[in-house]
Amino acid sequence: MTERRIIIITGGGSGIGRACAREFAQKDEQVVILGRSAEKLQRCAQEEGYDIAWKQADVSQREQVERVINEIVREYGRIDVLVNAAGFVLGATTDMPLAEAEANWDAVQETNLKGSFLMTVAAAPHMPRPGGRIIYISSIAAFTGGSRAGSTAYAAAKAGVLGLTYGFARELSERGITVNAIAPGFIANTEFTCNWTDEKIQGIIAQTPVGRGGSAKDIAASVSYLASPSSSFVTGEVLNVNGGWLFGR
Ligand code: NAD
Repeated sequence: MTERRIIIITGGGSGIGRACAREFAQKDEQVVILGRSAEKLQRCAQEEGYDIAWKQADVSQREQVERVINEIVREYGRIDVLVNAAGFVLGATTDMPLAEAEANWDAVQETNLKGSFLMTVAAAPHMPRPGGRIIYISSIAAFTGGSRAGSTAYAAAKAGVLGLTYGFARELSERGITVNAIAPGFIANTEFTCNWTDEKIQGIIAQTPVGRGGSAKDIAASVSYLASPSSSFVTGEVLNVNGGWLFGR
């Protein structure tokens, strides 16, 4: 019997992270989901019905990241795969008072960019070499600036995540750990997109060659590939999973 891999998924209590948790748990991997709300994580683990462990941690807080990684290593001995899916968007525009724009900028960078950085630095020393896998969830916004005005802080953070991908791939791949990113297009029915208007969604779908919005499962399938032994020669890459919304540009 092969040993179960230990898979950490930040933002694993909903949306894309939750779909990733299901994908790995169905394959009998040991999944640990992280998030800020214990109640949400517990509900997710119960509803999924697989052996999914959860731990409360805000990835933007170094002490919480350190604590949770120490707990996981104590309980499971190592970390095989890190999926950085925690993230959110807040608007920041030139019409805002500067202090408000700054507050939104800071919050967005702290989770989307710094959180991914902290998790990587804390987890990488505990990964098998070769065999470790780090996967970031960036966004199509890194290339387009977002689907509407005001997404600048988010677009910058998600572009920064590509910098993490390249930088950590250079540092860690020679030690047998691959580092890649996925840049999703529109993914329906997550907490992130569930309040988007029908008009906005139809506008995006009209620009999407495959003619539909993505599902969290579409992203989980790509994460699963990048986490698998089959992808051992893929590192420092960005996989666009967007139904063709971006190609050719
Ligand atoms: P989601 O809101 O359902 O999932 C994000 C999760 O991250 C939530 O459970 C949230 O509570 C958690 N989270 C937020 N801040 C956190 C923090 N500081 N510490 C720990 N957990 C935190 O939305 P989703 O669409 O599944 O988003 C997952 C990732 O995909 C995000 O990084 C998002 O930016 C990215 N993304 C989403 C889309 C889309 O269309 N849904 C497109 C491109 C990229």
